[in-house]
Amino acid sequence: MMAATDRNKPLNAEATPHLSYSRLQKYLTCPEQYRLYYIEKLRAMVENASLVFGSVMHLALAEYFRRQIDPARTFLQDWDALNDVQLRFSQKESWQKLRDIGQGLLEKFLRDEAPKIGQVFSVERIFELGVSNLNLPFVSVIDLVAEMDGKRTLIEFKTAASDFEDYEVDLLDQVTAYKLAEPDVQQIAVCVLVKTKAPKIRWHRTDRTPDDVVEYLEKAETVAHQIEQSVFYKRIGKWCRQCEFLPVCLGDKGKARDTLVRIA
Ligand code: SF4
Repeated sequence: MMAATDRNKPLNAEATPHLSYSRLQKYLTCPEQYRLYYIEKLRAMVENASLVFGSVMHLALAEYFRRQIDPARTFLQDWDALNDVQLRFSQKESWQKLRDIGQGLLEKFLRDEAPKIGQVFSVERIFELGVSNLNLPFVSVIDLVAEMDGKRTLIEFKTAASDFEDYEVDLLDQVTAYKLAEPDVQQIAVCVLVKTKAPKIRWHRTDRTPDDVVEYLEKAETVAHQIEQSVFYKRIGKWCRQCEFLPVCLGDKGKARDTLVRIA
């Protein structure tokens, strides 16, 4: 059983207890990472440049679909404003490199991809769902619902270092979670903006059945129950290399103190 509330105002995500795809995903990646982030409220002092880049790209696309503002222009304004802000770049990235990639991708998007999208029904709409098997509301922010291929389509934008494999798209929990909020869409399209030197944009079409959604809700219930029971443990893997909490897990108190901050 499910009831949906459609919010126009942004949810105060830090203040309102809720579940979301990203919260569940953080727990599934590593329960200790979830604990340090959401319960201890630790944050990296210097933000990950890739994540900031993804947010700036999303904002530029949202402004385009809301107000038809050239997305490359919005991106350059916002990215240039970050020039003086300290960000954590990977070895292959730099501020200038990401600036060029973002501009190239959004110019290509406007020229080649935007014409494929017809009537826009919603942009970055926030849904708060009451689901009977979950004690907390389930919140989703859906990038875009618009007409594509003559169908009402849920569109998810991704910025990534490489294109997604078909199986990744077909199993992506994120769009299954969004189908909960938008059960009437006729298809789902994942648009991958690939961060290569020559701009590359790939579309993947997929869909979710009611059984897929039920299976996801069962997983969400299991994770929510484990969080309620304070079941937290370190799930070690290659992802630890990118994790801001690595100094905590390694017991390096000095580095943890120098790189992390506790938010209010
Ligand atoms: S470093 Fe690894 S084990 Fe520790 S919180 Fe991060 S992902 Fe989990």
